Amino acid sequence: MTKSGKKSAVTAAQQLLLKKLPGVDHILEIAKADQELKNIPQSVITASVRQVVDHLRAKILNHQDFLSEALTDTVILKQVKSVAKSAMTLNLTRTINATGVVVHTNLGRSRLAKSAIEHITTVSEGYSNLEYNLASGKRGLRYTIVEDIICEISGAEAAMVVNNNAAAVLLCLDTIAGNREVIVSRGELVEIGGSFRIPDVMAKSGAVLKEVGTTNRTHLFDYKQAINDQTGLLLKVHTSNYSIVGFTSDVGLEELVDLGEQHHLPVMEDLGSGTFIDFSKYGLSREPTVIESINTGADIITFSGDKLLGGPQAGIIVGAKSIIEKIRQNPLTRALRIDKLTLAALESTLRLYRDEEKAISAIPTLQMMTCPIDKIEKKATALAAMLNQTDDSRLTTHVIDSASKAGGGSLPLFELPSKCVGLRIKGMSAAIIEKTMRKNTPPIIGRIEDNMYLMDMRTIQTDELPEIANALLTCLKAAAADS
Ligand SMILES: *Cc1c(COP(=O)(O)O)cnc(C)c1O
Repeated sequence: MTKSGKKSAVTAAQQLLLKKLPGVDHILEIAKADQELKNIPQSVITASVRQVVDHLRAKILNHQDFLSEALTDTVILKQVKSVAKSAMTLNLTRTINATGVVVHTNLGRSRLAKSAIEHITTVSEGYSNLEYNLASGKRGLRYTIVEDIICEISGAEAAMVVNNNAAAVLLCLDTIAGNREVIVSRGELVEIGGSFRIPDVMAKSGAVLKEVGTTNRTHLFDYKQAINDQTGLLLKVHTSNYSIVGFTSDVGLEELVDLGEQHHLPVMEDLGSGTFIDFSKYGLSREPTVIESINTGADIITFSGDKLLGGPQAGIIVGAKSIIEKIRQNPLTRALRIDKLTLAALESTLRLYRDEEKAISAIPTLQMMTCPIDKIEKKATALAAMLNQTDDSRLTTHVIDSASKAGGGSLPLFELPSKCVGLRIKGMSAAIIEKTMRKNTPPIIGRIEDNMYLMDMRTIQTDELPEIANALLTCLKAAAADS
């Protein structure tokens, strides 16, 4: 039964409880004197008190079993504090990534380098020359702030940045192809998480998708045969989050560029996760670099700022000056423009690439990607030791071999050997451990395998280990309360 239950249905026992239930004003009065609630806005306190009192009243009317001690001022105030505190907690919060997926889209993709964070702070604390040319004293373009550094480290003729790579692709298709046909291999009609699908983006841009080849095999003659007087662009999409294996064949960017030249057609590549680092040097599998793509002579290339690049969310467009010029003038550009905080972080991140060694050590994404296994193992042993200090016989910890992933639609088949710390608590299921860790402050996101809670150490920072140990204590307390 709900609140709408007939009055006559209220029993004598319920009436007694209702009488005992303190009024909102009374609780508000006590809340006023409470030190812990001192810094919480009155509106939040009032709403919290209402919520708690209403909830208790509903419970009484629903004949839910509960002790009348639940109606004392102290108990109610405690609940009010908990409700008010959770209302004051920011929704977007730092989270510990124990998944081992380095570029985890749901967990915010890339952690920023220190210099990028500092740059954001300086630029946002004061005014900046975002669109002001300090040399001429005239209006400047925000897009040019990172153009020189992008050209310097990539060898591109011109560059431009927008909100994200999806925006970059949309903008390029709209500018270059217009309403004409864009030829793409069927094996490259990718969908990436969060509903970015090449055919859909194409439709929005007004360009007409012309699929060629088959899912597993596309040849140069497929492109050739599809070219007609309606063709506006040849597009190559890096199949970043999957791999077609077995009987396969695709046309390389270089061959497409040749074909484009023969037919006076522009060639574009959506690289997805662009990187300036050749990961094969570090024992990882090869991911095409931005520089290699530029060297093919392709007219335009787009990639993300926050995937393997390790910077903020952004879409980077590099290529021919004449095309970049046209893109700048497209009215869509204004709607997709990058903001100043992103530009600050992006400029600082890109500058680190002037020295590859520096980039690897200062950009967290690169650091985690190339972290040697013995370092990861050391972290795992340190965490296990820290957890075992609790000296609780219900707890067992394990250091086990595992595999982490690059994520973010890069190196799809490649698994990075890693180490996990596994937890089992007697009397507590792995699912409950997972939930407790997830609800911790800060939340810890791990996974369950073989009924064991696992934390991959590749994506965990050393200074996060004490926080994880604290969360475990919360788990053990909860397990104790349960048993
Ligand atoms: C990730 C990706 C995109 C979208 O990039 P965002 O920066 O997330 O907008 C587009 N194309 C490919 C191939 C991708 O991998």
